[in-house]
Parts: sequence; structure tokens; C-alpha cells
Amino acid sequence: SSSTPDESALLSGTVVGRFGKHADVEDTSGTISRCHIRRTVDSVVCGDKVFFSKGDTTDTGVNGVIEIVKDRHSVLTRPDFYDGVKPIAANIDRIIVVSAILPSLSTNIIDRYLVACEDIGITPLIVINKVELLSDEERTAVANQLTTYEKLGYEVLYTSCATGEGIEALNDYLNNSISVFVGQSGVGKSSLINQVLPDADELTGEISNNSGLGQHTTTTAKLLHLPAGGDLIDSPGVREFGLWHIPSERITWGFIEFRDYLGGCKFRDCKHLNDPGCLIKKAVEENEINKERFESYHRILVSMEENRPSHSQP
Ligand code: GDP
Repeated sequence: SSSTPDESALLSGTVVGRFGKHADVEDTSGTISRCHIRRTVDSVVCGDKVFFSKGDTTDTGVNGVIEIVKDRHSVLTRPDFYDGVKPIAANIDRIIVVSAILPSLSTNIIDRYLVACEDIGITPLIVINKVELLSDEERTAVANQLTTYEKLGYEVLYTSCATGEGIEALNDYLNNSISVFVGQSGVGKSSLINQVLPDADELTGEISNNSGLGQHTTTTAKLLHLPAGGDLIDSPGVREFGLWHIPSERITWGFIEFRDYLGGCKFRDCKHLNDPGCLIKKAVEENEINKERFESYHRILVSMEENRPSHSQP
């Protein structure tokens, strides 16, 4: 029917799996129901809080329908050719930006991720993994580079999946929240996830079996409960977060130390590059703003221009 569903007759749950036309919804007792999605529902992603109804199990294993998606307090999106943006995960509290240190630490890549995190309003944790591979001198150099970020209020955590360093602190950070791990391929996201959730793969299998639905191999995203507390959302799309196109004004906003100066430049459309009367450039000259961050900002602007998706051209 097309009438608005009666919320009091519905169950409350969280989307813990999303694949094809279905979603797995976990209710407050921990029971998982495989659900269709009501046509009136705009979009459903992992982490969504939903109202759903339960019925008889169909021969495809579906026994519920998602009727309403509750308001999201945060949403990770990716650009979509037709819709502008598409959600990929909802109600995220924390973003763990895992960074490579070899052959060297790329602060420009870190800056790109920070911009993307600031854009959706989440202050990330910067994780420097594989630290056991650094000599004492190299480690000091990396730590020095990162003081810029700590001064801006970003937390930095050093980890090693080889020695276990930092894993307890990581567990503490993940507790009581929904988190995602992002970062370039090879930095150690899977390995870190495996440290905080040793049986990640088995656990997904268990979810399938518990719901009596057999195996589904095409899971595009999953929400996993961590033994030390907290939840993790993981999917290939989530891991790619941060590498997409962001409009230039939002890149500027993503450099949090620039914010105090915005609006004060001589020209209203100042791009903070080489424009005369630019307050940000002046702040760099006066050492109020870190020069490397300013140069990194330029590199991000240029790379976004080069990779601008064709449909967003004027
Ligand atoms: P992902 O692509 O970000 O998921 O990275 P992986 O977790 O697959 O790790 C990439 C490679 O780095 C693998 O060979 C891991 O064994 C290795 N690796 C991950 N963490 C560490 C670490 O702390 N120290 C060292 N030495 N290698 C690591």
C-alpha cells in the first residue's frame, strides 16, 4: 500500500549488510533479518538506522521490509554520474586515515584525506602503520613532520601489525563508535582490521548462516561488531573514500587553519594561490600557516582541476 507505515508496529534496527536489492538488518536483540527495501525509501546503506517489518521467509530467504530510514547524523558519499552523489555508509563517528611511511611519508596524501573528512564534518585519526620498519632517526623525522597536524588538533597514532604497537590504543579509539578505515592500497587497512577483529571473515560467514540464508558472495558493505567494543563499516567503496572530486571552495574549507582568514582577502573570489591581497598567503609569509600545508593545498587544487569529472563542467 502507499500509506505511511505506522511506526509503532515496526521494529527498529541497524543495517549491517548491503548487497544488491537487499539489506541485512540487525534488531536490538541481535537477530538479523534479510530485508527488501520499500520503493518509497530513497536509499539504504550500512550504518543506517531503520524501521522495518517482518513477515514470512520467502524462498529467497527474505523475511523483512525496510519501511523507513531514520535521519543520518553523518554520511559518506561518492560522486555519481546521474545523482550527483551517492551514499556509501551512514552514521559514521570516526574515520581512521591509514598512511604509508615508505618510501616516505606523504603529507599531501594525508591532506587530501583530511580535506575529505572535514568536508563531511568528521575529525579523523591519522594512523601511521608499519612503524617497526623505521629506524629511530626515521621515526623522529616522521614524528617531526606530524607535529604540524597535532598542532592543528589532529590525533596521530603509531601502529605496527608486526609488533602490536598501538593496537590497544586503536581499540580504545574505536570503542563506542562506528568507524571506517580509509587509505591507499597497501598501507595495511586489512591487516589493522584483522588486529582489531581477528575473525572478520568468519564473522561475515556466521551472519549469513545465522539468518539461515546460506552464502552470499556479493556483499558490497558490512557492519562488523568489534570484540573490544565499537563497530566497523567496511566495503571497497568505503576504502576508496577521500580520493574523489571535491569542489575547490570545499578544499579550502578542509584546511582548517585557513578558516579564520576566509572572507578577508582583497578579492571576493580569491583562490588563495597568487592572488594579490590574499590573507592566507600573508599568513604563510608570517609563519602563521605552515608553508608545506599551503603548497599541499595548491597541489590538491591542481590535481582536482585535472581530474574534474566531465559532467560537472559548466
Ligand atoms: P591494505 O591494502 O591497506 O588493506 O593493506 P594490507 O593490510 O593488505 O597490507 C599490505 C601489506 O603490508 C601486506 O603485505 C601486509 O602484510 C603488510 N603490513 C601490514 N601492516 C604491516 C606492519 O605493521 N608492518 C609491516 N612490516 N608490514 C605490514
